[in-house]
Amino acid sequence: MQRAEVLSYIALGANLGDARGTLTAAINSVASLPATRLMATSGLYRTAPIKASGPDFMNAVMAVSTRLTAPELLQHLQQLEALAGRQRPYHNAPRTLDLDILLYGHACISSPALQVPHPRMSERAFVLVPLAEIAPDQVSRAKLSAVASQAIKRVASVW
Ligand code: AMP
Repeated sequence: MQRAEVLSYIALGANLGDARGTLTAAINSVASLPATRLMATSGLYRTAPIKASGPDFMNAVMAVSTRLTAPELLQHLQQLEALAGRQRPYHNAPRTLDLDILLYGHACISSPALQVPHPRMSERAFVLVPLAEIAPDQVSRAKLSAVASQAIKRVASVW
C-alpha cells in the first residue's frame, strides 16, 4: 500500500557565497525530491547571524507534501546540503546551505539524529516569520511577539 502524504515545513538558510541563488536552487531541488510536491514557499528574508559568524543570512521556509518518511526526508536534505558544499568546521560556522525539518505533519520525533518539531524553531524570528507567512495557523501571535526584537527584513516575495 502506498504511504500517505504528509505536509512538512522546511527552513532554509544560507550566508556564504550567492546565498539567494543557493536558496533558489535548494527550493527547486527539494521540490524535485522523490514522492514530494511543493505546496508553498515564503518570501526571501535577510537576518543577522544569531550565535553564528559571517555575513547576514538569507532565509525562507517552504512547505512540501511528501510520502518520504521523516528520516528519509532528512537524509535527502543532508545530501543537498553536502552538494551545496556545506562543511562543518565548527559549531554554528557560516554555511552555504542549512536545511532543517521544522514540522512533519503532527509527528513528534525524538531520536539522536532527528527532533521534530525542530527544538529551536520557537526561538528564531528567521523561522517563525517566514513560517507564519505560509502557515499562519502554525505560529501564534505570542510566539511572534517573543522574537520581535530580532531584526528580520523581507527582501523579496518572488524567487
Ligand atoms: P545543523 O548543523 O543545524 O545543520 O544540524 C544538523 C544536525 O541536526 C544533524 O546531525 C541532524 O541529524 C540534526 N537534526 C536534528 N533534528 C533535525 C531537524 N528537525 N532537521 C534537520 N536536522 C536535524
